[in-house]
Amino acid sequence: MKKCVVLGSGIQGLSAAYYLSEAGHQVTIIDPHKEYQGASWVNAGYLTPSHIITIANPKTLANGIKWMFRSDSPFYMKPRWEIDFIRWLWEFYRSATPEKVGNAIGPIEAINLLSKQCYEKIHQELTIGTFQLDQRGLLMLYKTTAAEKSETAVALRAQSDGLGVSFLDRHQLEKIQPGINKEVKGAIHYTCDAHTTPPEIMRLLTQHLKNKGVSWVHDPLDRWEVNQDRITAIHTTTNTYKADYFVVAAGVWSKDLLKRAGIHLSLEAGKGYSMDVHRPHPIKYPAILMEPKCAITPMEGWARFAGTMELSGNNHRIRPERVKAIASAVSAYYDNFELNTSEMEQARCGLRPVSPDGLPLIGPTEKYPNLMVATGHAMMGWSLGPGTGKLIQQCIDQEPTSIDLTPFNPNRTFY
Ligand SMILES: Cc1cc2nc3c(=O)[nH]c(=O)nc-3n(C[C@H](O)[C@H](O)[C@H](O)COP(=O)(O)OP(=O)(O)OC[C@H]3O[C@@H](n4cnc5c(N)ncnc54)[C@H](O)[C@@H]3O)c2cc1C
Repeated sequence: MKKCVVLGSGIQGLSAAYYLSEAGHQVTIIDPHKEYQGASWVNAGYLTPSHIITIANPKTLANGIKWMFRSDSPFYMKPRWEIDFIRWLWEFYRSATPEKVGNAIGPIEAINLLSKQCYEKIHQELTIGTFQLDQRGLLMLYKTTAAEKSETAVALRAQSDGLGVSFLDRHQLEKIQPGINKEVKGAIHYTCDAHTTPPEIMRLLTQHLKNKGVSWVHDPLDRWEVNQDRITAIHTTTNTYKADYFVVAAGVWSKDLLKRAGIHLSLEAGKGYSMDVHRPHPIKYPAILMEPKCAITPMEGWARFAGTMELSGNNHRIRPERVKAIASAVSAYYDNFELNTSEMEQARCGLRPVSPDGLPLIGPTEKYPNLMVATGHAMMGWSLGPGTGKLIQQCIDQEPTSIDLTPFNPNRTFY
């Protein structure tokens, strides 16, 4: 049995703790936020093997430049003269080439499928209790020919890799999702995808780990204790925790935690917003509204409306114009349905940890091999949580990993 300390209790931290504790290790979770309701709580709940294109791609660059200073656009960047941010932007730019995007497809598919299997196993075996895991897939709704064309290219590639896809014209779409605005021309239906209700799983996982004897500490990190090439302990403001392995899974805060160990991690916060509707709604199928880039999910008894990618630093400031942009997009795609003022006032946000190439950072650090990293999952962090947790456990137990971890090496450079 090894002693393991996991920093962070978002989906990555909880998943690492889950698999480490299943493997018989003694686990302590450190998270200074008792009731943090961030990215892992407010996300759209999609499990998306279909998302085979990383966010760092030529299209994001082109749209980003067009949109970046418009604060109500799907992608917004607040200019900041911070050296780490400028470096990250440069690394993002260098990663967004067709060749690198193409090379990333295989690794993304592999980790997505692994993680989906992990969710399915946990769901089937009822280890943490019963939760929603709905396999009806994901609709990509489009109004323009340009959006149809670009998603069709992705869908054909996904299909040729064996992922379930079907192409729906307007008539076929209306049969499964009535009440769609007449301008919507059709949809690509990724039948390979699934969806869940994130707060439900977060609560069940937390309770399960507590029942299994995982300890929870709410003090912030003060300093790392090092002996040669190993981290030996972590000092919080009130206590010291010695361990054999340490896992940094603190989302966007991972960068700061690693900096204190003298390790640079290139990571930016990609803020996203979501609003919940607890009243009758027309949403039958999870859907991404392609032009405004919003995500709609029918959760267990309610619906969630999410969207936007905002690079404005590590803060939780809600920008009303971005909330309104999501609400307007919803009423432009669904007839006779609008988000009301109270739902908009209760909008919440979460910070996606975005690496420069959009691929996660998973595995041991070069400087301290017993210090593991599990972050950088950007738009796919919910999908990839359990898969990442499993991979971390395999690294710690020095077992062969379920997939090749080279593309996710946290020590990689981006140019
Ligand atoms: C609106 C929105 C919609 C999304 N939709 C989807 C989706 O449909 N599918 C999908 O796959 N992904 C989606 N994502 C992305 C996904 O939610 C994130 O990638 C994922 O939740 C990140 O998980 P995490 O555990 O890395 O970080 P977080 O959930 O941010 O958790 C980090 C944890 O670290 C803790 N922490 C902070 N400081 C410290 C410290 N000093 N020491 C220890 N711990 C600390 C925090 O309190 C927090 O609990 C979405 C994100 C957003 C915002």
